[in-house]
Amino acid sequence: MFNPTAVYMEKGAEEYYLGKLLLDRYRQMDKPIITVDDHNKIPQLRNLPDRDFIKLKRYLIIGIRKSVRLVKNERSADWIVPFTSSGCSAYCLYCYLNCTFFKNSYLRVFVNREDIWKSIARKHERLDEEALFEIGSNSDMVLEDCVTGNLQWAIEKFAGLRKGRATFATKFAGVDKLLSLDHRGKTQARISVNPADIVKRVEIGTSSLEERVKAANKLYHSGYKVGINIAPVILVEDWEKKYSDMFDYLESSLARGLKKKLFFEVIFMTYGLANEKILAEAMPNAVNLLDRNIMKPKGRGKYCYKKEVKLGAEKIIKDEIKHKFPGASISYIC
Ligand code: SF4
Repeated sequence: MFNPTAVYMEKGAEEYYLGKLLLDRYRQMDKPIITVDDHNKIPQLRNLPDRDFIKLKRYLIIGIRKSVRLVKNERSADWIVPFTSSGCSAYCLYCYLNCTFFKNSYLRVFVNREDIWKSIARKHERLDEEALFEIGSNSDMVLEDCVTGNLQWAIEKFAGLRKGRATFATKFAGVDKLLSLDHRGKTQARISVNPADIVKRVEIGTSSLEERVKAANKLYHSGYKVGINIAPVILVEDWEKKYSDMFDYLESSLARGLKKKLFFEVIFMTYGLANEKILAEAMPNAVNLLDRNIMKPKGRGKYCYKKEVKLGAEKIIKDEIKHKFPGASISYIC
């Protein structure tokens, strides 16, 4: 359970059902509640130095989402939905959100879920064929759900659609409240994994590999479609052995039925220099993931693995999946 040390609430958010509920909850818990004009511009948080990154991650921001425009996608889904949260309380050392929000990548939840739903419903009306909607691209929906219950709400909404299905990836294991929902097979979960040692040292503040695998099995036994998302693959020292051990562990721990219909997504790390800057101040002893010997610049302020390095690693990961999960498919590798 995410237990914020302070709550920043946008003016007007308390007029929504969810806003009122959260306000009452955090008042009862005696949390400091600070009213702000705009969840996107909180000068007293923007002006803090990078070294306060960890302190900022303990804050919860409650706001009203202004833009609810869906974006076409061709990878994990057909449409990306700017859904009910952005940001996160964890500190993965490579997190893509730090390139957008910098040190202010704290968890923001949006109270106007009905407005967002209208956008999905409008798109759904115009669909000729089935479409998959990504609802977790700006946050982690399982984490958000422990604050708002919005993932449970969304799963029940999608259960009523004829052609639309939802998908989300997660690094958190708190899925118990999802298990008894009447989801009608309309939501798929992608459980994000990495070797146990990388989870511990790099994906700080998320659930352990063991807990995530248990969550995958629970969701599968409750009828959800479940995939494994290896995101990102990080080529640290000894990575081949670490990933090989991880695949062995998955093979021995995932439910037998799940392994037969499993799908994998594989995404190699892109590292934003914003992370390097923030971590130098906030977490100076953290592992340095930027290895310029095997990485090259990619666009502005980002690094990715060199082509030949990535191609070699891709082959190794593909072979691991092929040999250890003969019934599984790879949806994409990038
Ligand atoms: S769990 Fe996801 S959103 Fe949260 S810090 Fe890690 S990568 Fe970022």
